[in-house]
This record gives sequence, C-alpha cells and structure tokens, in this order.
Amino acid sequence: MDDPDIHLDVAADLLLFLPASRRRAEQRVATDGTSTLGHLIESLGVPLPEVGPLTVDGAPADPSHQPVPGQRVTVAAVPRPQPVPLEPGQRAPRFLLDVHLGTLARRMRLLGLDTAYHNDMDDPALVVQANAERRVLLTQDRGLLRRRALWLGAHVRSSRPDDQLRDLLERFAPELSPWTRCTACNGELVAAAKDEVEDALADGTRRSYDVYGKCSDCGQVYWRGAHGDHLAEIVDAAVRTVAEARAAAPNGTAGPSEGVSSGTGASGTG
Ligand SMILES: [Zn+2]
Repeated sequence: MDDPDIHLDVAADLLLFLPASRRRAEQRVATDGTSTLGHLIESLGVPLPEVGPLTVDGAPADPSHQPVPGQRVTVAAVPRPQPVPLEPGQRAPRFLLDVHLGTLARRMRLLGLDTAYHNDMDDPALVVQANAERRVLLTQDRGLLRRRALWLGAHVRSSRPDDQLRDLLERFAPELSPWTRCTACNGELVAAAKDEVEDALADGTRRSYDVYGKCSDCGQVYWRGAHGDHLAEIVDAAVRTVAEARAAAPNGTAGPSEGVSSGTGASGTG
C-alpha cells in the first residue's frame, strides 16, 4: 500500500517550537498534495523565519514546494550566523524589539547596535515599523513571526537577558561598536568634553569619572563610573561571542573578520 504521509526530519534547534507531546525530530504529516512545505512546517508549530534550507528526497526545495505522499523532507534551522541584507554604508543589521525585551534592547544599544524599542507597541505597528525601516524584528511571540508581511524576524530564545544577548550575537554575529549609542533612546553619542557637560555631573562624578559621550538625541551624558565595570564585562563577553561565532562560521558567510570597529562618538576610552 502507498505511504499516505510525508516524513519530516526536523533539526534539533527547531524542536523547541513543537508541542511537548510531539517534540521529536521524526514527524509524519498527512497531506492532500496541495499544501506547501511552508504550510506543513508551520502546522507543526515552527515559524518560517526560524527555518533554514529544506530538502525533499535529498534535493533542495523551496517553502512553496508542494510535497506528495511518501516524500522525505529535511527541515534545517536558519544558518548561524544568519546573513541579513544590508543597505550601502550599513555595517550591521538594524533591529526592532518586541515590548517585553527592554533589558535586551539596552544591552544591544550598549554594543552599538541600532535597536528600536517601545514598551507599548501592538503587533501590527511592530510589523509596520520593522518593514518600513528594514529592521529585524526580535520577539518571543511565535504568532508575530507567522505574519506573512514581515520582512525579517527572529525568535529570541531564553528569558534571561544574558542568554538572550548571547543567542542574538551567535545568530547574527553583527559588527559591534560598543559605547557609541545611547542606551536610553538609541541615539548616537557624540564626543563630549568634561567641561562641556559639567552641569550634568554631580561633584563626585566630576572628580573620578571619564566622560565619553553625550547623546545627540536626548542629551544624556555617558561616563565610565560605578557601573562601568559591569557594562565593560557585558561588552567584553559580547565581543568574544561574536568573534567565536564568526570563527565557527563556514568561509564566506560571516563578513569582516574583526567583530569590533572603533566608535565614532566615544572619546579616549577605547
Ligand atoms: Zn538618548
């Protein structure tokens, strides 16, 4: 008797999207022969922005392919690092973060990544801004990743900001420019001399801290201070993570070999 099912082999990195009761690599799906691969994969619970190369009976296939009963499909996760189309002059992807990812947003800005974030945006508005500004939408909402109109999205793994950041850096291995962006508003920092911003600093700060920048949008002054060590640790770990992600990448997929460029706004702090 003919095999009525399509057999899918789902990559380990994608199993988290399957319901716990069906969380295994081997999947059988009934089909009428008119469903697309993309539809079948989504029906398992896996959002398409998380899916990488597909094969059908060993040959590369597109999500729009209509498999027939008896065929074997392999479903890979997106490659890491995942290439993102950049516009001329753009050195790293831009991002837009879903409403619950505020801590991650501040850390990404610390690393110089252009990161838009609002704590009060609904799903349609997120998609509109992400598409209009060619930003990668980062979310933990799988429904949002299923929206057909979305240009590029990615699921953020883990609930811990440390792990979320590492996941993001391993996935995109973006070029970092630490200490160049306002963590509060995402504005770019411009060089600021100490005497220029003295009014904004308390006496203790003025004596013992180095000013390194001022936000060109909101005016916030940034200096290396009591919390600098913690932030420096986050930056150092991020730089290492990106370097490792790029080193582990197949040739030609990771872009420039160095993970850090010198900042344009910081002064004298390296
Ligand atoms: Zn700012």
